[in-house]
Amino acid sequence: MSDQRTPKDAGQLAHDDPRSRHPRQSAPEQHQPEPGLDVRTEPVPDIGLDSYVGLGRLAGRRALVTGGDSGIGAAVAVAFAREGADVAIAYLPDEQEDAERVLAAVREAGRTAVALPGDLMDEAYRTSVVDDAVAQLGGLDILVNNAGKQIFVEDIAELTDQQVLETYTVNVLAMFTLSRAAAAHMGPGSTIINTTSIQAYKPNPTLLDYASSKAAINAFTKGLAQQLAPKGIRVNAVAPGPVWSVLQVTDGQPKEKLPEFGKNTPLGRCGQPVEMAPAYVFLASGESSYVVGETLNANGGTPSP
Ligand code: NAD
Ligand code: MG
Repeated sequence: MSDQRTPKDAGQLAHDDPRSRHPRQSAPEQHQPEPGLDVRTEPVPDIGLDSYVGLGRLAGRRALVTGGDSGIGAAVAVAFAREGADVAIAYLPDEQEDAERVLAAVREAGRTAVALPGDLMDEAYRTSVVDDAVAQLGGLDILVNNAGKQIFVEDIAELTDQQVLETYTVNVLAMFTLSRAAAAHMGPGSTIINTTSIQAYKPNPTLLDYASSKAAINAFTKGLAQQLAPKGIRVNAVAPGPVWSVLQVTDGQPKEKLPEFGKNTPLGRCGQPVEMAPAYVFLASGESSYVVGETLNANGGTPSP
């Protein structure tokens, strides 16, 4: 049978080739001090500003995204707004420049944008940020626990308790504190989505604290999901693979490895933050109503549980 497709449909399919839909980049060696800025990263990570098209799947919802200034969290914030949600983003005060870009995109989508700068290491901020989001958004229906800290250390002899404590405070403890506060405000249909990582299953030997914190997030997600399902609140996680973001440039890994970043995946390239956003949109929307306690892997094909 001859090809019945319109040239437009065929063209779209070719555009959607996962090998080439985003660049097969070789990023230059570079470094920024923590937390770093997307806008100073080369190439600038793609958070979907020019490409994400919403379909109204989150109309009228109110979302808080931690680490919503850059990378995956920024792509999620932009996508949520274009899907019709009001969005609050939490981020470190040093990240204001990145945050402004995202806040502007949320406003351009016709939605309310709320800025909540602060340090999740700070107990006062950690315990108040959800209440502040609730106050400014008029409620909360979606919490995305996405803020994360990743600092590579070659040898456990050099890995200090202080670093382990900081990694676990940002990646894990904050998730407990914010989820507790959010659940107290959420009604049926609400969702909590946690960012874990392929590192939870395939720990890099230089990321002991980070990888183990991500494994903790998976167990936390599956446990809390069972606790909150009877209340109609769904809890799920997204496990990205190698996604181009400033996290890699701020000692997430040795800078000599940046040119090869993501090339060892079956797709042969790293992911871009915009490629993660649809997973969060799916888990936040009613379309995923029977998906509870799941970890959605978006990693370019590396086998994962
Ligand atoms: P990113 O640097 O753009 O985002 C991380 C964000 O965490 C920062 O923007 C910052 O706002 C926030 N953060 C860090 N320390 C904080 C603190 N003390 N207080 C408040 N906020 C703090 O990088 P990203 O890659 O988009 O990371 C987002 C999430 O994705 C993280 O949880 C990361 O572990 C996870 N992840 C990333 C990859 C990847 O390859 N990039 C892979 C798997 C998982
Ligand atoms: Mg940032």
